[in-house]
Amino acid sequence: MKRYAIALWTGCVLLGFTYAQAADVPVDADILLQGATIHDGAGSPATVGDVAIRGDKIVAVGKFAAGRVGRTIDCTGLVVAPGFIDLHNHSDRQVIDRRTRAVVNYLLQGCTTVVTGNCGSGPIDVADFYDKIDAAGAGTNVAHLLPQGRLRDAVLGTAQRSPTEDELQRMKQLAEKAMQDGAWGMSTGLIYVPSSYADTDEITAIAKVVAASGGIYVSHIRNENVELLAAVNEAMKIGRAAGMPVHISHFKSSGRDSWGLVRRAADMIEQAQKQGQKVTADQYPYIASSTSLDATLIPTWARAGGRAELIARFDDEQLGKRIRQSMRRNLEKRNGGETIQISRYAKHPEWAGKRLSEIAKAENIEPLELAIRISRNGGAGIVNFSMDEADVRHIMQRRWVATASDGRAYLPGADKPHPRSYGTFARKLGYYSIREQVLPLEQAVRSSTGLPAEILGLTDRGYVRVGLAADIVVFDPKTFIDRATFQQPHQYSAGVKFVFVNGRPAVFNGQPTGALAGKSLRHQTKTESE
Ligand SMILES: [Zn+2]
Repeated sequence: MKRYAIALWTGCVLLGFTYAQAADVPVDADILLQGATIHDGAGSPATVGDVAIRGDKIVAVGKFAAGRVGRTIDCTGLVVAPGFIDLHNHSDRQVIDRRTRAVVNYLLQGCTTVVTGNCGSGPIDVADFYDKIDAAGAGTNVAHLLPQGRLRDAVLGTAQRSPTEDELQRMKQLAEKAMQDGAWGMSTGLIYVPSSYADTDEITAIAKVVAASGGIYVSHIRNENVELLAAVNEAMKIGRAAGMPVHISHFKSSGRDSWGLVRRAADMIEQAQKQGQKVTADQYPYIASSTSLDATLIPTWARAGGRAELIARFDDEQLGKRIRQSMRRNLEKRNGGETIQISRYAKHPEWAGKRLSEIAKAENIEPLELAIRISRNGGAGIVNFSMDEADVRHIMQRRWVATASDGRAYLPGADKPHPRSYGTFARKLGYYSIREQVLPLEQAVRSSTGLPAEILGLTDRGYVRVGLAADIVVFDPKTFIDRATFQQPHQYSAGVKFVFVNGRPAVFNGQPTGALAGKSLRHQTKTESE
């Protein structure tokens, strides 16, 4: 009962009523979600009550008298939660593309906000990106990070060298502009070209500019294998030097020789938290990762300057030998290509869904030579079965680890992308929490809502609370589950009944409505006067 009282009291203040009046004043609503099991995003156990939506806001939560109501939805037995916030999304292009801007594969998982600009890639003209979203609408809200890889590319190209004083200045100016335009922080992708060519000092210099505007430092760290601890340490060092929160993307031990190390990295992070540093992470609930074949097997120095230069290095006797040595080691760690599944390859679309080792056998060549051939022909996307299930389950229980997909908006196609784009949130809640009971549902909800909102600094959504934006998911806990698999990835999740984005129905009775109710979420830069 205390919880309802608090919700009502907050509501009174926001609605400008006195406390005494409010309990009796009926609440008018466009939509009334009735008799729901409410998980409010704070991580405390669920309560049963109603939620009223008016316009784009939540106007009442708990027990209250309803006034004039547009539509009442019986939510008996259903869970009402804040719409999920995907901290790690790669829909930068898809969300401004007519064909994919509805982001249906995320709406049907209950997502109402995606964060773009991750892993150092995505647009750096943040105002232009946000304007494009708002001009046409999007299925979900979009919050953007300044991608340091593209930032460096814009100033230095893909050259593997330090910036000159002028170039560093230029990057800092662009970072400053991005923050003024509403970026929530910056991201790095330190296994990718050219993000990885930046050393710790260069990243710190840019991070300081981002920190001055209240942004966070988000990193796909330099190593997720046996150098994991050093890579986490670099990120935390940057955070301390720049005075800003640090967030580790898709936190994991990748590769059998590093299994278990992610738990030590997590302990190390908790030590830093105890000393007052803000450090968090996100995770997708799968044992496979996904990236390009090149980034997985070929050292970054060999990829400098783009594909034509890479091919020239393959052909160079000395360099070619060095690249092969390194690739051979990387392939050995991946069971000779057995753990690598092709997700997309333009030259042979029919290879999608097959393992590298399997294709090599059929083509009668060594996996190493096959990988080089694929790279010469434009490269391929891959899914890499590199993680330990026990590690994945362990990490998702840590309270500072958010759920995030690392995927993007898709239209069903012939490729075999990682199923995370379709299933992440349904799998975390439906499979790992409800069915496997790896973590309580309230914690799984929090890791997908209030926690990511706080990590990002979003204050107007992420909870089912009066006065916040009406981004809400209604799902059936008995049927909420991911259906996308590694062999059949283009399968929408099941069990999401309703999704509201800024108060508008985006999914109704399980069906996407086609509404483009999402908008750009622009970070307000701290000013001197504040
Ligand atoms: Zn990444």
